This record gives sequence, structure tokens and C-alpha cells, in this order.
Amino acid sequence: MKKRTVLVTGGAGYIGSHTVLALQDRGWSVAVLDDLSSGHRSAVADGAAFYVGDISDSRLVLDILDRHKISAVVHFAGSLSVPESIEAPLKYYSNNTSKSRDLLAATLEGGVGTFIFSSTAATYGIPADSLVSERSIQQPINPYGWSKLMTERMLIDTAAVNPLTYGILRYFNVAGADPNGRIGQSTVGATHLIKVAVEAALGKRGHVKIFGADFPTVDGTGIRDYIHVSDLATAHVLALEHLIVSPGSPLILNCGYGHGYSVNEVLDTVDQVAGTKLSRVIAPRRPGDPPSLISDSSLLRSKLPWKPLYADLELIVSHALEWERSLTDRLS
Ligand code: UDP
Repeated sequence: MKKRTVLVTGGAGYIGSHTVLALQDRGWSVAVLDDLSSGHRSAVADGAAFYVGDISDSRLVLDILDRHKISAVVHFAGSLSVPESIEAPLKYYSNNTSKSRDLLAATLEGGVGTFIFSSTAATYGIPADSLVSERSIQQPINPYGWSKLMTERMLIDTAAVNPLTYGILRYFNVAGADPNGRIGQSTVGATHLIKVAVEAALGKRGHVKIFGADFPTVDGTGIRDYIHVSDLATAHVLALEHLIVSPGSPLILNCGYGHGYSVNEVLDTVDQVAGTKLSRVIAPRRPGDPPSLISDSSLLRSKLPWKPLYADLELIVSHALEWERSLTDRLS
């Protein structure tokens, strides 16, 4: 396989920046396009070409594709908060759907035939089965999930009539940070549970709210499948290499470990790893939150030579905590 340059949109963001490192670690060159609306320039690995701009700026995209002889696009750029998507649906249909359409059009115009899209378990809504497979019905229950599902559809329909092979990776709950401490999640005002909990463990928040303790689950709190960001990044690189070698065989893969933890179990783990006793406040359910989402990861494991290295909640939490500490040190 000829390893050339990959365009990573959203490469200054959380998952994107870890994937840039994973790509470089496996010998790929990388160009990053990010508008820095939520990403950080400092998260982009040395050695990656960096462009500040909008994915819907076709001229800019075409210029990057041409200048770097891009052989694949890995598309992360977008908005990712379920609560925000309910408040501001049009922002989500713009950033995640409409701008993805423009990026896809430019990708085709630039003659690039491999495209990986960062999708989400939120496209399943409230699944009927406890283990969610790629064949489970997709019925989102919030604009975030719909905005991603529409882009999935767009990719599938476009690939049917164009020289394009796609990978759609549906993430479950991504957490943790680079085990070598190079990067992590720097989002300001993050809403994701593990990030919120490690911030609280370091005294940056007074308490952690538990959104709903009356779900039909083991302890009444929501259950999610937390996947380490570095294992997820590796899944992208392996998916890319699969698509390059087998251009006729697109991939749609759930990305999780196949094991769920409740909010209370996550908070217990944070207490154990950080040596804290977090103040937990029971709050109403958040609109749009399903009770349980666990990935059936068998397809990911069978289609790709993916061997997760960090499938352990304590490891995920300890990497997230180390990164959060380093952010604190940097600011003080
Ligand atoms: N959650 C919580 N308190 C928080 C953030 C999240 O109780 O401060 C719960 C949320 O209701 C869900 C789980 O933690 O059951 C994971 O939520 P998160 O926002 O991390 O990711 P999502 O599953 O919404 O993508």
C-alpha cells in the first residue's frame, strides 16, 4: 500500500488530533483542516500541515487536495453536543450535514476516492436491543443524531454512483487521552461525563450532576460503552488502510468495546483513581438521553485487525485525569 497524505478535517479537535498522531505513528503524512471553533492549534502534531478554514470552502479544500496529493479524507469536523443540538438544531444541520455535503462534493471534484466519516451511536436513538449492531434500526432522538445520520445516507447514496469508497465509524462514548500525555480533551465547558468528572475530581467543579437515576438499568443511571480515544484513533487508521487496499468494500462499523458502565460506576472509578469522594447531585434526565447504549463490536473486530490496548475503565479515567492535571499545570 502506498502511504501518501491524508486530509484530516477537525484534526485540532479531540478525536481528530489523536487520529493525526495514530496516522503519523503508522507512517502516513497528514494535512489538517480545522476552523479552530472548538479545536486547538496546539493539539495538532508537529509535522502535520495545518490549515485554518471551513470545510465548506471548496476552493480551499480543492487547493489542499491538490497541493498535498491527498489520497483520503478523514472527516471529523463538526459539532457534537446532544443538549446543544436540541437548543440549536440548525447549527447542527449546518455544521454536520450541509457542510459535510460541500466537503464531499469537493472531495469528489478533487478526485479523491476514499472518505471516512465520524458518525455516532446517537444515530440509533433508543435501541431495542441492549447490544447495538450495525444492523440495528437507526431512529435518532435528537438533532445531533439526525444530522449525522443524514450525512451517512449522503455518503452511501453518493458512493453508489461515484468512484468513492467510504468508511462510516459510529462512535459510542469516547474518553481518555493519549497514554503518552501528548494530547487530550481540552474542550472548554465540556459536557461529557468522564471529562466533567475528572474536572470535578481536580476541584474545577463543585459537583457532578447525575442526569436521571430512574432509568430501567442496574442502578437507575444511564449506561454507556466508553471507548479510549487512542483505541478509536487506531480503528480509523486500520479502516483507512482497509479501504485503500479494498476500494470496493465500504465499511460501516460500530466503535465501542461491547461493555457498558453506569454513571455511578464511572463516578466510583473516578473516586478510586483520583482518591476523591465526588459530590453527586441527582438531576432530572437530560432530554434526548437513551437509558443504555452498548456497542456490539464484533464487526469491528472481524473486519479490521483491531486489538484494543486500553479497554479498561480505570485506564481510561487515569489517562483523562493525567491530561486534566497537565491542563491545570499549564494554566497555573
Ligand atoms: N451524564 C451525567 N452527568 C453529566 C454528563 C453526563 O449523568 O454531567 C450522563 C448522561 O446522562 C449519559 C452518560 O452520562 O447517561 C454519558 O453522557 P455523555 O454526555 O458523556 O455522552 P452521550 O452519551 O450523551 O454522548
